[in-house]
Amino acid sequence: MVKADAYGHGLLPIVEFSYNQMNIKSFGLASLGEALCIRRAFPQMEADLYVFSDLDFNNGNLSSDYINNRILPVISNTQQLESILNDRSLLHMPLVLKFNTGMNRLGLSCVDKDLEILVHQLKKHNRKTLYHIMSHFACSGLSMKTNKRNISQMEEFQKIKQFFLNHQITIQRTSISNSGAIEQKIGLDETHIRPGLMLYGPSSLIPKYNNLTCWKAKNISKLVTSILQVAPILKGTPIGYGANPVHESGLLAIIAMGYGDGLRTTYQNAKVLCNGHIGQIVGRVNMDMAQVLFDTNASSQILNGSQVEIFGHDTEFFSDFCIKTKTIPYEVFLGITPRISKRYLIEE
Ligand SMILES: *Cc1c(COP(=O)(O)O)cnc(C)c1O
Repeated sequence: MVKADAYGHGLLPIVEFSYNQMNIKSFGLASLGEALCIRRAFPQMEADLYVFSDLDFNNGNLSSDYINNRILPVISNTQQLESILNDRSLLHMPLVLKFNTGMNRLGLSCVDKDLEILVHQLKKHNRKTLYHIMSHFACSGLSMKTNKRNISQMEEFQKIKQFFLNHQITIQRTSISNSGAIEQKIGLDETHIRPGLMLYGPSSLIPKYNNLTCWKAKNISKLVTSILQVAPILKGTPIGYGANPVHESGLLAIIAMGYGDGLRTTYQNAKVLCNGHIGQIVGRVNMDMAQVLFDTNASSQILNGSQVEIFGHDTEFFSDFCIKTKTIPYEVFLGITPRISKRYLIEE
């Protein structure tokens, strides 16, 4: 899954690396625009591009960009399906159907009578093969083996597959698991899995269920900036906008990153790193700067120009950062704005 600019990591470089170095041949996007962006950048690439949510139906008609660019719309309601089946230009469009097995967001109904209607509709249009059927978990960040909703969603999915089988409809590809489920080794027997967050390093299980994950990866990215100025400061000295008094004496470093870069005001009090020393974001975060307080003992290593890591490759540190700032890894990654230039380093 590379939607949302590859979870903030840069769509094209991530797709290029995944395709060339990791042999990944299917990519999941949220919008048609994202898929077109990939096709235009890499016209020779032979990969399936799935658009999951923002399909771009105009007056009930699917954009011709799908056919012209070999892009697959993930159909998740009967109007979309009806429109595609009735469009003569889409006679050979592979059918990708997403079912609602209990998340109640997007997805075709899987109650028996609706499946009957669906099969009837497919047969009427002489469509006896489905390219890919899928569903999506509502709670894969919780236990897959004991959570009732998860169990029921898996059962529903098996039921749907069996239903098509019983009605002589061939299914070529299936997938149900996103990161949380994959991390718990669920859904690995389908033809495909749909990892998102885990590709970029972090686990997506909620902290309480940490022990259930088998995913021990490093963040593929780190977010760094530099110190513009550093000076000793005494407890009680007012700092920055709002003139909030600093809670402790120490070294006050002004860093070159603020909410304009994605370092949110709610990251106040979070811990960051500089040359192995832990600092704390203090006072109000500005548009392009923030204040970080370090221990006075660190003075020989906290210097003008020193690099400060807001988060690094250490997933535990990153997880603590998210807990402390009451956010989730997805949001931290996606919050980073285009003002931050990205450098892609490949380890030999
Ligand atoms: C975003 C998304 C995924 C990936 O989810 P993660 O939790 O990031 O692994 C998988 N499937 C669908 C349909 C999605 O929308």
